[in-house]
Parts: sequence; structure tokens; C-alpha cells
Amino acid sequence: MADHNFDVVILGGGSGGYAAALRSAQLGKSVALIEKYKLGGTCLHRGCIPTKALLHSAEVADSVKDAGHYGVNATFGSIDMPAVNQYRDSIVDRLFKGLTGLVGSKNITVVQGEGRLAGPKTVQVGGDYYNGQNLVLASGSYSRSLPGLEIGGRVITSEHALQLNFVPNKVIVLGGGVIGVEFASIWRSFGAEVTIVEGLPSLVPNEDPAVSKALERAFRKRGIDFKTGVRFSGVQQHENGVVVSLETGETLEAELMLVAVGRGPNTAGLGYEEQGITMDRGYVLTNDRLQTNIPGVYAAGDIVPGLQLAHRGFQQGIFIAEEIAGLKPAVIDENGIPKVTYCEPEIASVGLTEAKAKEQYGADNVSTYEYNLGGNGKSQILGTAGFIKLVRKNNGPVLGVHMIGSRVGEQIGEAQLIVNWEAYPEDVATLIHAHPTMNEAIGEAHLALAGKPLHAHA
Ligand SMILES: Cc1cc2nc3c(=O)[nH]c(=O)nc-3n(C[C@H](O)[C@H](O)[C@H](O)COP(=O)(O)OP(=O)(O)OC[C@H]3O[C@@H](n4cnc5c(N)ncnc54)[C@H](O)[C@@H]3O)c2cc1C
Repeated sequence: MADHNFDVVILGGGSGGYAAALRSAQLGKSVALIEKYKLGGTCLHRGCIPTKALLHSAEVADSVKDAGHYGVNATFGSIDMPAVNQYRDSIVDRLFKGLTGLVGSKNITVVQGEGRLAGPKTVQVGGDYYNGQNLVLASGSYSRSLPGLEIGGRVITSEHALQLNFVPNKVIVLGGGVIGVEFASIWRSFGAEVTIVEGLPSLVPNEDPAVSKALERAFRKRGIDFKTGVRFSGVQQHENGVVVSLETGETLEAELMLVAVGRGPNTAGLGYEEQGITMDRGYVLTNDRLQTNIPGVYAAGDIVPGLQLAHRGFQQGIFIAEEIAGLKPAVIDENGIPKVTYCEPEIASVGLTEAKAKEQYGADNVSTYEYNLGGNGKSQILGTAGFIKLVRKNNGPVLGVHMIGSRVGEQIGEAQLIVNWEAYPEDVATLIHAHPTMNEAIGEAHLALAGKPLHAHA
């Protein structure tokens, strides 16, 4: 049994935790980073990176299937799932090695083991106690299920879905949010029959309704079936598949059902409540400076209510490290966090939707403009449809950018600068966008909203 003292002790080595560790070390602090599994957390091992690798394989499959349209003779054979997984794992392994090397090169003590709070600023790992001047909680999240819906067998979560070494012939995806539509997209490209069941009235219900509608149209065209505004009532498993019942009385049959109904905070049994940390339904509550009710105890990432995204976790980790070092960083604006859904077609958005902007500023004070990718040369070359929708405050800045179309995720960088720097469409209209790029569509949309459309019909 031993005591170890550090400036900063961090529980969880995922996006939030390791970012806090790296920035704290840069700022000259001694750091203990406690991780029970592997540095990199959900994002690197079971989330962002492996799913995007699968989506890339899916894109390659689609390209081969469409090759004839572009005058290329190629024949689609089949998906070799073990080989797809090998490619995916090679990416994850390389990034993991890089991250391990990076963390190892800093003044960071990585503690391999399961931690639990033994005091307000002490984490116990086995017989060792890690005492911090400051403590950062970053224990992440897990795949949630619905009450009474047991995971197991043919009813799987995204973790299991990533382990499959075959392509199911027929899948039901419960949940039409980000994770659900990404897996639906992957499996469809790989040749599966897919049906999404979503209780809310639309797919990706957190996006601007125009984007949801466009995704539904695109999915319909891709042969991805979906049922929205329909609630799941139960599932039965048999030897070869599942029978899913809906509250409408309808039943659906498939080989597997993926449960993608969101992620819950991983905080149970970690001693947070016992040490007096204020919680709400398992989430750790913080002020806008990410400090809990206990001075010197902070929280980052998916355990803090809000968008569960890796880049939010990184930024929160950096913020906390700077706060601890007394740098007084600017509060993170949650509304300015960019969101990308990497299905085909992709969705990318930042800032307020039209409805939220009208709610906040009044319907008469908000204008919108939708630039159709039909007018964008590069989009036509790539064969994608979609649009860029801008929301602006009249005589004021751009409040939101909402995009759908192949590869639009890569456009979010400029969109988030525009929204976060509160640019006016007139400012952006003077900036030159290279031709022919998809990025040009952002320039064109702003030209139009500034009253001087170029390649736009309206
Ligand atoms: C399928 C899927 C796809 C996703 N795709 C994207 C995407 O494309 N883009 C994006 O931005 N986000 C994506 N996300 C979300 C992203 O992965 C999370 O927002 C991010 O990982 C949260 O970081 P975190 O640090 O809060 O938690 P985590 O990354 O979950 O890290 C928490 C870490 O704490 C460790 N830990 C937990 N308890 C203990 C303990 N008691 N002792 C020691 N260690 C412990 C865990 O092992 C884990 O490594 C995706 C998630 C999933 C599931």
C-alpha cells in the first residue's frame, strides 16, 4: 500500500483524460493518468476511428459498384470482413502506438488499472492511492439500452458490431441517431438489408429538419429502410435471427438487431457520489469552468451533460489543464462545437438550427439560405447531391451552418470558424474559395446570402 502525490490526477485515459494530461504536462505539472484498458478510450478503440475506417471501406465498395458510371471497368466481388477488420485494426494500432509514445515522452505517469475514488481528491488503484492537488474525472460512457431490453446474442451494441467478422444479410438498427445511421450506412454499402427504427419523427433528430429530410431521401434512394415515429416494444431471439415488435403491432425479422439508443455516463460504482460529488442521473454536474461542486475536482468528456463528442472532450481536457495552471481560459461555447455524422451522404453542422435561431432572436430577425450542391462543379463530378444551409441574424452574423452531401464533413472547419468568429455573410463573400472544390459551395452560399449570388438560381 503506498501513497503517490501529483499536481493533477486524472481518472480515465480517453479523449478528455489524455488531453488534460498532455496539456497539464506541457504546463509543467506532475500528472498521473489512470486507465483500466487502453489509452485513447472509446474514440480510438471502439468509436470514432474504427467506425470511420469501416465507413471508408464502405465508400470503396460503393465506388467499385459505381465504377461503370465513371467509365471504369471494375466488378464488385464481395466484402472480406476479416480483411476489413484487419485494415481497421492496423489504423487503430498505429494511432495507439503514436498516442502511447506521445504520452510516454511527457512527464505523465500512466497507471494501468481500475481506479475508484477513495477521497475527494484521491483515486485508489489496487493498494495504491493517487492523491492530486487537483482531480479530473474522465471515465467516459457506455452503450445504453432501453428498460427491459437485454443485450446479448443477436441483440448487439456498437462494441459488438465492431467485432463482427461477417456481414449480416439483414439488420435492424434501433435508433436513428449518429451511431445508428453510421452503422446503417456501412452495412448497406457492404450489401446488407437494413431497417432503422426511430421513435422520434425523423432520422438524426438533432439536426436541422431540412437535413433530416434530405438524409431520409438519400437513404431511401440507397435502399435503407426506416421507420420513424415508431416505438420499439420487444425483441425475441431464435436460432437464426431476431423478431422485433413495434408498438404499432408490426413485426420485423432480421439476423441481428443493433441497439444504438445513445450512451450513458460511466460513473456507477466509482465512488463519485460517496465523495459528495453532485450528480444528475449518473452525469457529473459542473459549472461552466468544468469544476464540480468540490473545489479542485473537475470533469471532462461524456460524463458531463452535453454533446458526447471526442473533440469536445479534447477541448474540455485542455481547458481544465489551463484552468488548473491559472491561465483563466475562455469558457467553451457548447453551441460552437462542430458535429459530423459520417454516413453516406455525410452531415456536418455547427451553431443554431433555423428553429433555434428564430426562438432566440425572433422569427423576423433571422434569414436562411440553402445552396444546392447541384450548382457546385466538384459535387457534380463526385456525383453527390445535397446542400449547404446558412442561418443568419439579419444585419448580423452567421448563426448556423448545416450541410449534407458526400464529404461535407471536411467542410466543417471553415463553417466552424465562420460561426465561432461571428462572421457576417458579407465578410465571407469577400474571401476567395478555390475552384472547383466542394468548399466553394460555402463561398457561394455566403455570396448568395450577402445578396450577390454567382452560380445560384435563387
Ligand atoms: C461507435 C461510436 C462512434 C463514435 N464516433 C465519433 C466520431 O466520429 N466523432 C466524435 O467526435 N465522437 C465519436 N464518438 C464519441 C466519442 O468516442 C466520445 O465522445 C469520446 O470517446 C468521449 O471521451 P471521454 O474521454 O469522455 O471518454 P472515453 O473515451 O470513453 O474514455 C474514458 C476512459 O476511461 C477509462 N475508465 C473508465 N472507468 C475507469 C476506471 N474506473 N479506472 C480506470 N479507467 C477507467 C475507460 O477505459 C476509457 O479509456 C463515437 C462513439 C461511439 C461509441
